[in-house]
Amino acid sequence: MSLAEFHLIDYYFNAFNRPPCAQSQTGIVLGIGDDAAIVEVPAGHHLVLTIDTLVAGVHFPPDTPPEAIAHKALAVNLSDLAAMAAQPLWFTLALTLPHADANWLQAFSQGLRRLAHQYQVALIGGDTTRGPLSITIQAHGCIPAGQVITRRQAQAGDDIYVTGTIGDAGLALAALQGRVALSAQDMNTLLPRLHTPQPRILEGLALRHLAHSLIDISDGLAADLSHILQQSQVGAHITLDQLPLSAPVKRWLQQGGDVSLPLTAGDDYELCFTASPNAREAIAALPFRITRIGHTTPHAGELLCRWANGQTLTLPQMGYQHF
Ligand code: ADP
Ligand code: MG
Repeated sequence: MSLAEFHLIDYYFNAFNRPPCAQSQTGIVLGIGDDAAIVEVPAGHHLVLTIDTLVAGVHFPPDTPPEAIAHKALAVNLSDLAAMAAQPLWFTLALTLPHADANWLQAFSQGLRRLAHQYQVALIGGDTTRGPLSITIQAHGCIPAGQVITRRQAQAGDDIYVTGTIGDAGLALAALQGRVALSAQDMNTLLPRLHTPQPRILEGLALRHLAHSLIDISDGLAADLSHILQQSQVGAHITLDQLPLSAPVKRWLQQGGDVSLPLTAGDDYELCFTASPNAREAIAALPFRITRIGHTTPHAGELLCRWANGQTLTLPQMGYQHF
């Protein structure tokens, strides 16, 4: 990478920590500009680390707007922190670019800065290389020691919940790929769900004293809930009539769409969690859209999806397989 290109990158990512995303952020001892960053983890807390890579052509179409690529790269990481009920603090960025294009970098850094500011997370370092477009972000957060929520602690008889609505991103992607036809209006509603998912950070934090187990839905509800079931050695009954669906997804189902889409399509970045029935009132009182969709059973690993009328659904293969 030429010196001029390096200056360009330095300009966009060093500018990053000027206000409003100031470097006065919690615990930054040394930010961008040295060989490595130094941070201080709040007393009595564990550091929570997560990393995700987005590759052009695999995780997003190459012509996706740069703001959306940046948003999604950070959002998927924040979603993993949300799924640990962690408070996000900082992140690092490894950027591989085919060439340094000022317009692209300007838009990319804007998308990144907007979401970083929304959740008060600071960019504290990274690396920049030339090659096929790929973005790796490592996000750092913290949780009070003793308040860890994992995939392993679901108990038989727990209620099962999801935040928001599911299937929106999957239906948008299917429409983009020409597999389904949607009205322009429904497409306008659904596209932001695919391109700019909102990490459920506040929901995750609110669940700290309520959830037994927690996961984010990146590979589809059925696949991600199955991770909880396997790691907790319980089963689940889901009532299909109770799935929280947006108006466009409902319309598409009424016109003959397949109900397995909202169960198996990825990229929603909602949270799925289990909690004791004793927590129902407290969960209902939270200021978020949260829907109870079923309960866990003692039958380890078994996921049963039923309509209220007793009819059952057999799911096709779940989750995206990279290899
Ligand atoms: P080194 O050769 O020591 O790895 P670099 O030139 O890669 O140094 O990085 C110089 C500084 O710029 C470091 O503080 C690094 O964290 C930061 N940096 C480089 N690329 C990025 C990026 N894409 N985003 C944020 N910070 C970056
Ligand atoms: Mg480097």
